Amino acid sequence: MLQIVENAKNHLSNIAIKSNELSYTYQDLLTVSQKYATGLLADSKNLMGARVAFMVDPGFDYVAIQWAIWQAGGVAVPLCISYPLPSLRYVLEDTGAAIVIATPNYEEVLKPLIEEKTFRFVSNEELSKAQAAELPEISRDQNAMILYTSGTTSLPKGVVTTHKNLEAQISTLVSFWEWSAKDHTLCILPLHHVHGIVNVISCALWSGAAVEFMEKFSPAAVFDVFMKNELNVFMAVPTIYYKLITYWEQQNEETKVEIFKNLSAFRLMVSGSAALPVSVMEKWKTISGHTLLERYGMTEIGMGVSNPYNGERKAGYIGQPLPGVSVILVDEDYKEVEMGQPGEILIKGDNVFKEYWGKPEATQKAFTPDGWFKTGDVAVYEEGYLKILGRDSIDIIKSGGYKISALEIEEVLRKHPEIKDCAVIGVPNEEWGELVAAAVVLNNQNINTDELNDWIRDLMPAYKTPRKYLVIEDLPRNAMGKVTKNDLKTLFK
Ligand code: ATP
Ligand code: MG
Repeated sequence: MLQIVENAKNHLSNIAIKSNELSYTYQDLLTVSQKYATGLLADSKNLMGARVAFMVDPGFDYVAIQWAIWQAGGVAVPLCISYPLPSLRYVLEDTGAAIVIATPNYEEVLKPLIEEKTFRFVSNEELSKAQAAELPEISRDQNAMILYTSGTTSLPKGVVTTHKNLEAQISTLVSFWEWSAKDHTLCILPLHHVHGIVNVISCALWSGAAVEFMEKFSPAAVFDVFMKNELNVFMAVPTIYYKLITYWEQQNEETKVEIFKNLSAFRLMVSGSAALPVSVMEKWKTISGHTLLERYGMTEIGMGVSNPYNGERKAGYIGQPLPGVSVILVDEDYKEVEMGQPGEILIKGDNVFKEYWGKPEATQKAFTPDGWFKTGDVAVYEEGYLKILGRDSIDIIKSGGYKISALEIEEVLRKHPEIKDCAVIGVPNEEWGELVAAAVVLNNQNINTDELNDWIRDLMPAYKTPRKYLVIEDLPRNAMGKVTKNDLKTLFK
């Protein structure tokens, strides 16, 4: 990943980061990150391979510290800034972090852990008291980062990527999505997952582009930045687009026209991390004139599949394998399925992670003997485009010998005018194995489930229709806005 630092030298006077009303150039980023790196090495002569965790708000210091860790030979472990103590402890103990860096605002929450003295604690201010130290040579096979999976299906796993893995993930997206030094993006995503770290900030900074950070996310604040007419690239998860749409709906006609006008300068708007409902994609097109580009990725692979940058972006599809990423679909015996048949996505390429940290067994299980990574996601090719049917463990409902895609049923349910949001799961049933069950969030509470049943039976085969409904106020979601379906299973019990 030091390529990102090398690239910065070609754009010294460009704005790299805008945060807290301040602008920082690539020169600033290089100067401060090198200073922090020497500060890190001042007390620990050799950091090669050591895990260095950091808890810093999105902004200039976040990037400077991340780059400093890489330049000092460490493995960057970004901590989620909203984690409570037990989750922080889990990550710090699991990675065996040697050093924790935090800005003063996070010292309080970390205090009990700092007092245990299992790691060296430094504030960013201490780091800037630089000592002259030479920065080490870093091999591309060296571990660069440990990111934790979102924990949607089980306890988050630490995913180790090398500099080579990260460089592959970033450079592929940079060329496929045509990033350049002229780009200007807004980062509203958390910086402990690939979506924010790789797709947004690292792709931008690799290219000499500008990244703007926002102090606190709100739909109004995002539209305020949009209206300044400076951005041309934007990435978010489906729930964020949903929130922006809801805010837009509350505006008057004049404002809506203004918004449409101001959004015309964008060249790229991306959605990912969870399935993008067709209705959200369509509404966003009306609001902005832009066809969202949906892509598919994971902590373990960065991005694997993307709709075309130039060419048709199909609603409900994730597109085609990215250049340099090999994708096959396989059956339960890991044999390739015939074209048009659903199968688990297997991935190969330099983008694929090295291992789950401290979990050799889980790592071994995650790969086939010939080195394909098993994503656990099921997909099918339709007219040259991949469609995600869901996670094998939770979205593929096995009922009476059928395999039913929860995502497909959710897409149909969302067409009902009274359904605001929904999630479909399988609940255990002695006779059928599993039964299709739907949790629905309603606009008004004036529809009963018998009516819903009658309605949906006209739209899909009976075996796919939900047998149980649960009306709830909100779906349980994690930090990336993904529905935590295991929590829903408990609710159905
Ligand atoms: P955990 O592995 O801890 O259960 P997680 O799988 O949600 O959590 P991530 O690595 O953040 O952790 O997310 C990757 C997953 O997100 C993919 O395996 C896939 O299920 C889902 N995903 C990503 N992009 C899309 C998309 N465009 N459509 C549908 N699902 C997607
Ligand atoms: Mg996962």
